[in-house]
Amino acid sequence: MKLTLPDKSIRDLENGSTGFDLASDIGPGLAKAAVAVTVDGVQKDLHDPIMQDSSVSIITIDSEEGLEIMRHTLAAQVLARAVKNLYPKSKLAIGPTIKDGFYYDVECKETISIDDLEKIEKEMDKIVKTKSSITKKLLSKKDALKVFKDKDESYKEEIINDSDQENEFQLYYQDDEDFVDLCKGPHLPSLNFIGAYKLTTISGAYWKGDSSNTMLTRIYGTAWSNEKDLNEHLNNIEEAQKRDHRKLGKEMDLFHFQDEAPGMVFWHPNGWSIYRNLRNFVRKRLQENDYIEVNTPQVIDRKLWEASGHWDKYRENMFITEVDEEHANEKRVNALKPMNCPGHVQIYNQGIKSYKDLPLKYAEFGLCHRYEPSGTMHGLMRVRAFTQDDGHIFCTEDQIESETGLFIEFLSNLYADLGFKDFDIKLSTRPEMRVGSDEIWDKAEEALEAAIKNLGYPYRIDEGDGAFYGPKLDFVLTDAIGREWQCGTFQLDFNLAERLDATYIGEDGKKHIPVMIHRAVLGSFERFIGILIENYAGKLPFWLAPQQVVIASIVSDANDYALEIQQSLKDNKIRCEVDLRNEKISYKVREHSTKKVPIILAIGKKEMADKTVSLRRIGSNESSVLSLDDAIKDITKESKA
Ligand code: ZN
Repeated sequence: MKLTLPDKSIRDLENGSTGFDLASDIGPGLAKAAVAVTVDGVQKDLHDPIMQDSSVSIITIDSEEGLEIMRHTLAAQVLARAVKNLYPKSKLAIGPTIKDGFYYDVECKETISIDDLEKIEKEMDKIVKTKSSITKKLLSKKDALKVFKDKDESYKEEIINDSDQENEFQLYYQDDEDFVDLCKGPHLPSLNFIGAYKLTTISGAYWKGDSSNTMLTRIYGTAWSNEKDLNEHLNNIEEAQKRDHRKLGKEMDLFHFQDEAPGMVFWHPNGWSIYRNLRNFVRKRLQENDYIEVNTPQVIDRKLWEASGHWDKYRENMFITEVDEEHANEKRVNALKPMNCPGHVQIYNQGIKSYKDLPLKYAEFGLCHRYEPSGTMHGLMRVRAFTQDDGHIFCTEDQIESETGLFIEFLSNLYADLGFKDFDIKLSTRPEMRVGSDEIWDKAEEALEAAIKNLGYPYRIDEGDGAFYGPKLDFVLTDAIGREWQCGTFQLDFNLAERLDATYIGEDGKKHIPVMIHRAVLGSFERFIGILIENYAGKLPFWLAPQQVVIASIVSDANDYALEIQQSLKDNKIRCEVDLRNEKISYKVREHSTKKVPIILAIGKKEMADKTVSLRRIGSNESSVLSLDDAIKDITKESKA
C-alpha cells in the first residue's frame, strides 16, 4: 500500500504495517521519537495496522500533539492507576486532557483532599518507573462490559452502554495487565515517554455535569515534556495568582461586587479614578482622530431591537424591562442596550447624508448590559454591565482600506502608550452563510488585507470565521507575562445600515447604503482595567495611578510641612494625600506600598529644616533626598509624560 507523507513523498509498505513500521522505514531517530500516527486526519495508536493507501504523518513526543497524547496517557494510565492502587474501592469515571494538563474524575468512598495529592504523585512516580509498554485490546460490547463489571467499574459500563458502537471498544493495559482503562486513545506506546508532571488541585464535579448525579472527585494535574517547562509553567501560574486583579483590587481598594448586582462593578474612589483617567486618555485620542462623541439611551423599546435583528438573535442575552405607560394604559417592553450600534444609526439617520459627509465616525463610551450566565463571570474580566470604547464608522466601499489603515495606527499607538508593544492581528473572512454579494466581500477582504500589509504588520487569516454580515479584524495583545488578550476589533457590516434604512446620496445623485464599521480598541473599560492591573501587577503608570503621591510624616512636628507640600502638589494637579498618623514610618511605607502608590515622600525634622523631601519609589528599597522644588518639578513632569 502507498502511504503519503506530509512532504508528499510516498512510502510503499506492506498492507497492515503500522505507524511504527513506517517511522522505522524512514529512520531510527524518528522510530525512537514516534508515539502515535495520524492516518487520513485521524490520530491512531502507533501500533495500529494501516490497511489501505492513506495520507499519514508520524506524531513525535516533542510535538504539540505528542504532548497532548502524553497528558492523556498520564491521566488515563498513571493517575487513574495510582488512585486505584491507593483507594482500591474507588471507581473511575473519565479523564480527559485540558489546557496545559489533564484531570480524572473518580468516585471515592474515602475523602481525597489536597493533602493527598503528594501521596498520589508518589504512587504515580512508581508506576511511571516501571516503564511499562501500553498495549491495546479491541473488545466487543459484551466482552468489554464483562471486563468492567468484574472490576465493579460502573461508570465504564455506563459509557459502554451509552455508546451505539457494537465492537472495537479500546481497552488499554500495561505489562502486568492488572489495570485496564477504556479509552478512545491514542496512548503513548510506553510509559517511558512520560515527561514532568504535577498534580495541582482537586474539586468536586458531577457525573456527566448533571447535579442530580453523584458528586465525583476531580483531580487536576499539569504535564510537560521536561522539568524546565513544568517549572516555567508553575512559576507563571504563581505569578498570575500574585497579579490576580481581584486580589489586587481588594488590596488597592479599587472595586467590589455583591450579590444584589451580579457581574456589575461597584467602583470605589480609587478604581473610579483609574477609570476616569483612562477614559480621558481615550477621549483625547478620539478627538484627535476625527471621532465625534455621542450618547444614546440606555433603555430602548423592543421595536428598535426587532428592526435591528437583536430581538430575534440576541434576546437571551438582553435585560428586558416592562414599563407601564402612565397615560396610554399599556405596557411597553424595552431592553437595556446590549450594544450601541442601532442607536448610532438613529443619529446617522437624522437629516440627509451625502458622500461628502463620509467617512462619519461616531464614538460613544457606551454602557451596555448583557445577560451572561452566572457561572461565567470572573471579576472585571467578564461582567454583565460594561462600558465599551465603542465607535462606528459610516463610509463608502472605497474608503474601507484607508479607514482600516487609520484604525490600526490609532490602535497601535494607544496600545503602545498603555505599555503593550506587541499585538497580533487576525483577519476573519467570509463564512458559508452570509449577506452581501461576493463582489463586496472580495472588495472588503482585499481592502482589509491591503491596509495591514501597507503598514507592514504580520497577521493571520481565519478562513470562514467572519460574521455573516462582514469580515473583521481582531487584535490580540500580549501582556507582561506572555498571556494573550483579545481586545480590539474592527468589524465590517453590510447588513445593519440597510436594515435600519441608513443611506447617503452618492456622487451620482442616487441613494446608496453606507458600509458600517464597528470598532473598539480596549473592548470594555472594565476588562481592560483588569488587564492593566494584572499586566502591571498593580504598579500602574504614574498618570493612571489613583493616588500618585503620599506624603508621610515621620514626626508630628513635620505635619505642617507635609500639608504645605500636599498643597504645592495639588496646585500642580498631582493626586496626593498626606499620612499624618502617629505610626512608624516603616509601617506607613509598607501600607502605601501594598496600595501600590508610586511615590512616597517621607518628611522628618531634618527634611523640614532643609526644605527637602526623602523620595521613595514603589518597588525600591532606597530613597533619595531632593530639594522640595526639584521634587515637585520632577513629579509634575512625570505626571505629564
Ligand atoms: Zn457596533
